[in-house]
Amino acid sequence: MASIPRKIARLMVFALIVSTIILVAVNSSSFGLGGWFGSAQTGPRKLVFSNNKSKPPEKVVEENYKLLQDVLMKPILEPKTDNLVRPPADPDQYDRANATMLVLVRNRELGQVVRTIKQIEKKFNSKFHYPYVFLNEKPFTDKFMSGIKAVVSGTAYFEHIDAADWEQPDWIDVKKQNQDMRQLDSENVGYAKQVSYHNMCRYYSLGFYNHPRLRQFKYYWRFEPGTDYYCDLNYDVFKFMELNNKTYGFVIALYDVEQSVRTLWPRTLEYLAANPAALHPNGAYDFLLENQQNPHKTKEANGYSTCHFWSNFEIADMDFYRSKPYSDWVSYLDSTGGFYYERWGDAPVHSVGVGLFEDRDKIHWFRDIGYKHQPYTLCSNCPTCSKCKTAEFTYDHLKDQNCLANWWKYEMSESQRNIY
Ligand code: GDP
Ligand code: MN
Repeated sequence: MASIPRKIARLMVFALIVSTIILVAVNSSSFGLGGWFGSAQTGPRKLVFSNNKSKPPEKVVEENYKLLQDVLMKPILEPKTDNLVRPPADPDQYDRANATMLVLVRNRELGQVVRTIKQIEKKFNSKFHYPYVFLNEKPFTDKFMSGIKAVVSGTAYFEHIDAADWEQPDWIDVKKQNQDMRQLDSENVGYAKQVSYHNMCRYYSLGFYNHPRLRQFKYYWRFEPGTDYYCDLNYDVFKFMELNNKTYGFVIALYDVEQSVRTLWPRTLEYLAANPAALHPNGAYDFLLENQQNPHKTKEANGYSTCHFWSNFEIADMDFYRSKPYSDWVSYLDSTGGFYYERWGDAPVHSVGVGLFEDRDKIHWFRDIGYKHQPYTLCSNCPTCSKCKTAEFTYDHLKDQNCLANWWKYEMSESQRNIY
């Protein structure tokens, strides 16, 4: 502190004390945040975990893993709704949903992205010809674009992301950022020091759905280069979302690296304190607050379980992100600098957003989309899936990272569980 004038040093200490008081307050119910939120229709519901039994975490891991394996071994086919839309005779004359395939990708990932697109085409899109949006903050090369055009059945849009939307804002305190990233790096938080990764997570949290090209669409299916899709889909998944009033669809749910989201929950509670009406009375609170399987994570993340839907596959409705609760909340998050002072992923951001601001019955677990992104795989016992071992998740030592059992136990209604 030697070089800082005493007056400024005193101010800094004062600011530190005030922010500590606020942090402590938002974590305790005395501030009203563990308190009642509610609506006239459903009555109040508390933003607390509803099942605080204490069991040894290792036991919970085993129980949850067993539960999930039983669920995945159950033979299923596709959602048993009577409104599935089958592949049309002529996909080019088909009245598609307002939807697109979406990938943020670098030129050097051409080979990997083509590999994944071929699978998506074979299993799904050759039957419907949905368009694709390719996003990049750098210009796509001719080689990339022609490589893509050779494998897609729908229109391909190659879109540039403006630097203003991609780069970190200029008010980020670079000194603090560097210090914090060194700290996270020393705690083995992946990508901590890679600014482009922070940009990517921020862009997927709050930017992409307002890209001029994406504004014309409502639904997107996000995919990533190098991921695998194992099951034939013989219905239009976007129409499924639309006709069944779904906002968000996922396959895999996981715990996160707790050090990467230490202040995500406290910042969210600050937002909720100022905007209690934003909270959906039928939100997925337990999924977000669970503290049984990995209590150390919930503790380190200041009350957030770190459970999230893995966003490298997701099918969702961008109008939800564009709506006031999500967009106000995520701009508040952004204003705190957490995308750069920490390493918030877009997956926990999407999950906390839909878990708090949307009806949990509008979140759909796509059990019939067998999927792999290293190192996790998820496949049900489904006759349309091939080359995928049923109920396989991953290596034994990673099974405590699986969060799906919490979704199944705490958030799915009977009708959701029986939809397959
Ligand atoms: P991980 O899955 O968390 O290890 O992250 P990935 O490296 O797979 O990145 C997530 C997605 O963002 C992938 O689709 C990448 O191709 C894409 N991506 C990551 N960083 C960048 C970047 O700097 N520029 C572009 N254009 N795409 C990126
Ligand atoms: Mn990835």
